[in-house]
Amino acid sequence: MLSPPNLPGPYRLLLPLLPPRRCLRLLTLVGFGELNGEVMQLYRCKCGKSTSWTTMGVPPCLACPECGSDLSQSPTSHKDPAPHEWIKRYDSHTGEPYELCQACLQRKPVPQ
Ligand SMILES: [Zn+2]
Ligand SMILES: [Zn+2]
Repeated sequence: MLSPPNLPGPYRLLLPLLPPRRCLRLLTLVGFGELNGEVMQLYRCKCGKSTSWTTMGVPPCLACPECGSDLSQSPTSHKDPAPHEWIKRYDSHTGEPYELCQACLQRKPVPQ
């Protein structure tokens, strides 16, 4: 069974669902750090508890709930996280208002 140790979590979960041929292709792509021609990059916070594999970068307001740092590709290039861009929305089920960050899609209750 193919299981490279460095395979990012989401792909490991995906593998049992794919036919063997697709598995092999996925592993080859991830092995070379590329998916659909885009390079997968690992972003992580200062303490290492928050990580993200992405081809598109991470929103500048995304911060680790543990250490509060932003997610960065290199331990030397951390910046203070940018403020969230909150917009007001209404829940489609309950009609309750809430605030949604346009950049990272984090949700929070409207301050009273
Ligand atoms: Zn952290
Ligand atoms: Zn945000």
